[in-house]
Amino acid sequence: MQAVQVVLKFGGSSVAEVAHWQTIADQVQHHLSNGRRPLLVLSALKNVSNLLEALLHQALTGGHPLAIANLKKRHLGFASQLGLDLNNQLNPWFEQLEVDCLAIYQAQHISPKLHAKVLATGELLSTTIGSAFLSWRGFDVLWQDAREILKSNNQQDQWHHYTSAVCDYRYDAQISAQLNARSQGRQTIIVTQGFIASDLAKDTVLLGREGSDTSAAYLAAILKAEQLEIWTDVTGVFSANPREISGARQLPRLSYQQALLMAQFGAKVLHPRVMQPMEENQIPVTVRCTSQPEHRGSLISNQGMPEISVKAVVYEANTCQIIISDLSSKSRLKLINDKLSSLGFDILLTAEIKAQNHLILNYTNSDKIQPSEKVLCELFSDDNITVNINYALITLVGEAAQQNWIEEAIHWINQLVSESQLVFYSSEDKTRLSLLVKPERYLQLSQQIHQKLIS
Ligand code: ADP
Ligand code: ASP
Ligand code: MG
Repeated sequence: MQAVQVVLKFGGSSVAEVAHWQTIADQVQHHLSNGRRPLLVLSALKNVSNLLEALLHQALTGGHPLAIANLKKRHLGFASQLGLDLNNQLNPWFEQLEVDCLAIYQAQHISPKLHAKVLATGELLSTTIGSAFLSWRGFDVLWQDAREILKSNNQQDQWHHYTSAVCDYRYDAQISAQLNARSQGRQTIIVTQGFIASDLAKDTVLLGREGSDTSAAYLAAILKAEQLEIWTDVTGVFSANPREISGARQLPRLSYQQALLMAQFGAKVLHPRVMQPMEENQIPVTVRCTSQPEHRGSLISNQGMPEISVKAVVYEANTCQIIISDLSSKSRLKLINDKLSSLGFDILLTAEIKAQNHLILNYTNSDKIQPSEKVLCELFSDDNITVNINYALITLVGEAAQQNWIEEAIHWINQLVSESQLVFYSSEDKTRLSLLVKPERYLQLSQQIHQKLIS
């Protein structure tokens, strides 16, 4: 049996619908018929990771048995809708959840290690169901524990170590050889988990929320796959979130860099960590829709659409503005990063205006509420840094080669929003123009900008 040639990632909504499993089986067959060996990366069933995060807190008060019973009902019910009785296969994962939640209750503390272990259950359950279904459909399936392949090299604090791990994704011929050896010459397909990896101590670690995209990209790079397919609930990457902006158009092609900017600045369709491993290895990525498999999707590769000057409008609702005295100083930026990191937050995006020493930050932590302005001001009180929270950032992604697109966009946007002074942040390489607005304005303004400059 040859090496893995295509990695297919199915997100939470893709795996949680019975009807979608026909598409998943069809896609596997399609690749096998064309002589390509597929590896499937599955997310947890839709919303299960959120329920597992809630479960951690329910365990503190001893309320976990009911929550685990509900999770069990959901998964066994879903398996039975697929025609499978998986009581015996799924039970060990629920028993382990009971043990881990009891430990949290007794310690009255959620350690990062147990946080990761409990959240990993979602993907372990979905892949157990998925591989049973595909076996039942006649495929020769290898259920592969992703933690045996993806090894984290994080050296950060405990929280980041366990919840936003980074893995080595260099090509590894040995891993391909091991997968081949497991196949014993048969025409197998591989089903593995998104979101999870392991550290040097073999503890379970997570790749950050929405991290299954990252798992798929890591695996495609490690196995030198020919292509990566991200299957989700929209037909591809659009010029704006098609669920929120009317007239959003699908982009048939975009470059790795454009996709990266869109993802970093708010297009949640792909995780920003996907692009680096794919660009470095020149692996094309297609984004496709599980409920409309006939649609070709969007292709992310070296070839964008240079003829289009403004590609997309994306936005991030929760950003804060930081004004510091010396933005050019690397140590100042490191200090801000370290201080936010000490609160458990990760910086997702930054945009800056050097002349005015403005820096825009967006940071995240799925398990903690955002710090208040007071907390942030206290955090930076000794550093001569001013923090203003409660801003949204709208970003236009454009074509650097198209002369003057940024000036033209600024001109049009200023006409649209005549009532107030806008703050613009454009990147030096002319691929991005961001503007800072009040949160209550960002959707309407994004819609207007999209209508004027894209639709
Ligand atoms: P999955 O569970 O498959 O990972 P996600 O919910 O993470 O799916 O990502 C798909 C969603 O991304 C879509 O439902 C859509 O609302 C959102 N989205 C945001 N911006 C864009 C965009 N520019 N193009 C397409 N989808 C977008
Ligand atoms: N299940 C994880 C999450 O919801 C990972 C993913 O689906 O990408 O964050
Ligand atoms: Mg996602």
